[in-house]
Order: sequence, then C-alpha cells, then structure tokens
Amino acid sequence: MATSTAPASNAFDDARSQLRAVAGRIGLDAGMLDVLSNCIREFTVNFPVLMDDGSVRVFTGYRIHHNEVRGPVKGGLRYSLNVSLDEVRALSMWMTWKCAVVGLPYGGAKGGVVVDPRALSKGELERLTRRFATEISVIIGPDEDIPAPDMGTDGQTMAWIMDTYSMLRGHSVPAVVTGKPVSIGGSVGRVEATGRGVLFTAMKACADRGMSLKGARVAVQGFGNVGSVAAKLLDDAGAIIVALSDTNGAIYKEDGLGDIDAILAAQRQHGFIPEGHPGVHITNQELLALDVDILIPAALEGQIHRGNAGAVRAKMIIEAANGPTTPEADAVLNAAGVFVVPDILANAGGVVVSYFEWVQDLQSFFWEEHEVETRLQRIMDRAYDEVKAIREREQCTMREAAYILGVSRVVEAIKVRGIFP
Ligand code: NAD
Repeated sequence: MATSTAPASNAFDDARSQLRAVAGRIGLDAGMLDVLSNCIREFTVNFPVLMDDGSVRVFTGYRIHHNEVRGPVKGGLRYSLNVSLDEVRALSMWMTWKCAVVGLPYGGAKGGVVVDPRALSKGELERLTRRFATEISVIIGPDEDIPAPDMGTDGQTMAWIMDTYSMLRGHSVPAVVTGKPVSIGGSVGRVEATGRGVLFTAMKACADRGMSLKGARVAVQGFGNVGSVAAKLLDDAGAIIVALSDTNGAIYKEDGLGDIDAILAAQRQHGFIPEGHPGVHITNQELLALDVDILIPAALEGQIHRGNAGAVRAKMIIEAANGPTTPEADAVLNAAGVFVVPDILANAGGVVVSYFEWVQDLQSFFWEEHEVETRLQRIMDRAYDEVKAIREREQCTMREAAYILGVSRVVEAIKVRGIFP
C-alpha cells in the first residue's frame, strides 16, 4: 500500500495554528481566541455491535460541535481507523469557518467511528450505524446538528441514520441528515456537489491566475466521492487528468488517462484502481510531486507536509480534502509561489448543497437539478470573489483571506449575540 508517509502531524494543532495565524490580522483578543480555539461540545460513545459470527465488539465514536453561534451545527460523519478525538475536533473547527465563508446559517460539527467499513458486512455496518445513531440521537436533530457523509460513509449510511432517528421520534424526520438518497428526501445534485464545487473553484482560480482550465494538466489524489466527481467534471471541462490515486497507489499517463468513467467502473468492480490500466503505476508521493498545472488533494488531511512540500511542482493546489496541507507545508508552498485555494473555500460545495437539501426537507418542496447547480455556482463564485478581494486588500494568501472572512463572521455573531449569561 503506497500511502503518504507524513511526519506525525496533529490535525487539531494544525487547525489551531491556522486560527492563531489570522488572530493578529483581525485583532482577536485573548478571550475570543480562547473561545474559538475550543470545541463547545465533545461527545464520545463506546457502544456494542453484534457481529455476524455471534460475537460482540465495542466500537468508539465521536460527535463534536465546534461552534453554533451562526446556527445549527453541520458536518460529516467519517468511518475510518484513523478517526480520533483530535481529528474530529479539527474537522469540526474547519466546518465552522467553511460555513461562514460561504455564508450559510450553520455552525461547525463533525463525527466519526473508529472502524474500517470495508472490513464489516453490510449487516454489521447497518447495526453499527443504527446503534451509533441512537447513541448520538440526544445531540443531533434538524434544529441542532445535521450530519452528512464524509470518508467511509455514503447515502446508505445517512438513510439508516434518518430511519433510526425517525423511529425514535415516532415520525419521519428527513431533515436530520443530508446526503440522503433522493427517494427519502435527498437533494438532486448532492452526490456530485463537492466535486462540482471543486470544478467551479478551479474555473474561478484559473481565470484569477490567467491560466486556461482547458488543456490544464491535473493530478488528483484520492478517487472517492469527491476526487472521482472532480476528476470527471474537470475532464468534461477540457482539463487533462494525468494522474489519479487511492490507498492502493496512483496511475499516471503524461498525455492523459483518458476515459475517467472506465477507471471508475474498474475501481467499483475491484474496490481500488486496478493494475492493467494504460497508465504507469506510481506512488502517492510521486503523484504529489508531478509537474502539473493543478494538484487536487482529495483524500485526507496532512498529505502535503514539511517532508514533501518542497517537492511539489504544481502551479496551483485546489484543496478538495479537508486539511490536506499542514501549516509548515503552506509556508514552503507560498515561498515557492504555488497558488493554494484552501479547503474551507474549495470544498464547500458539499455543505452548500447539504444546506439546499435541509431547506428542501424543511419546506417539503423539492428543486430541480438546474436550480441546485445554478445556486451552487452563485454561492461558490461569490465566496471566491469575496476571498479574492480580501487577499488583494490585505496582500495575503487565499488561505489567510478565507480565514479572515470566515473567522470575522463568526466573531461578529458572537459579539452581537453576547456571552451568555
Ligand atoms: P471517500 O471515502 O469517498 O474517498 C476517499 C478516497 O481517498 C478513496 O479513494 C481512498 O482510497 C483515498 N485515500 C484514502 N487515503 C489515501 C491516501 N493516504 N492516499 C491516497 N488516497 C487515499 O471520501 P470523500 O467523501 O471523497 O472525502 C475525501 C476528502 O474530502 C476528505 O478529506 C473529506 O473530509 C473531504 N470532503 C468530503 C465532502 C463530501 O461531501 N463527501 C465534502 C467536503 C470535504
């Protein structure tokens, strides 16, 4: 398995350090910095699951609320063996800034279970999900906390959570989760939303930098929900996808990998990008160092770190994953002139369409796909322009500008609401 060999980095330390970096620029006092550096609610559950062989296993899960000053909290649920308290804390903090950057009336949350979902049968996964949903049912709800899919979870996971929560309440509550199948109150366009948002971001970023997206050479790390859709849509838009990867390693072809749908079909059949594709097999580390126009990390956090940032040759990085670049790597990339569009802007398409889904559920009135896409593009474009204007005014990076925008909006809400009591 060719995964990145990042020096141990703690995502929550990184998230806090990104916040501190902007604190001086916007004049945050020590008390406000302390408020924002901590998560308001951290819920840990250890729960039993009956396995297919009759044994009982205890799993650990988390649901963390970082900040709810701008509205109910929102964020995904991750199933992975790497899930930890600090990872979930970091992801929930990033959700707070992301929702604020794109102007959604939400605070930030995240959750996860320490499990390799691929090692469980479908029945075991359903029992695990339903029991976890029951455990966290005391803190989730359409007005409080609305989970969504993330790594290792999907529409089926959300359907089980929605059904479990509805059974506990005695009536259907579709708005308790987003990313559900359309048949039970999901939104058209939600599955593609994060990848589509990455496409819209790439279009804006290329125009911003005087680059052409058509013909741009692109490498994508991570070929899951986000990476595969981004690759397909960028390919459709005329970019040349030269490399793709998953946990099994990467494939590379200098003049383009060709039919993305065929690679996706083969991946679905084998569970990973298979051997035998026309591209040569390289490692994930080699993918990150390819001489491309656009690098899209779409796997997990901490992938571009101080140990490999110097090797990056891409002109532009569009962060589809959450937290793929550590603060130390950021400094190296900036010094080298690599243009980085940060996660809290670039991958916000998912939460934007989750917001549309929640609004549709609350109104029991559903939109057509073109309305979802048009509204998504409008919000992504507006957020990009607002971040760009701050970058130009403050002479700072896109990440700093996005943090200035997101954190300032949260601070403003805290100040106007006041500290209770
Ligand atoms: P996913 O589970 O569908 O796919 C993850 C992909 O990354 C898989 O192809 C996996 O093989 C690959 N991967 C995992 N570890 C890797 C490694 N070390 N090297 C290379 N590839 C690796 O997950 P997803 O929903 O596509 O999420 C990907 C990222 O995007 C995460 O950071 C997630 O938090 C972020 N994100 C997701 C959404 C969403 O709507 N799903 C929204 C915003 C951000």
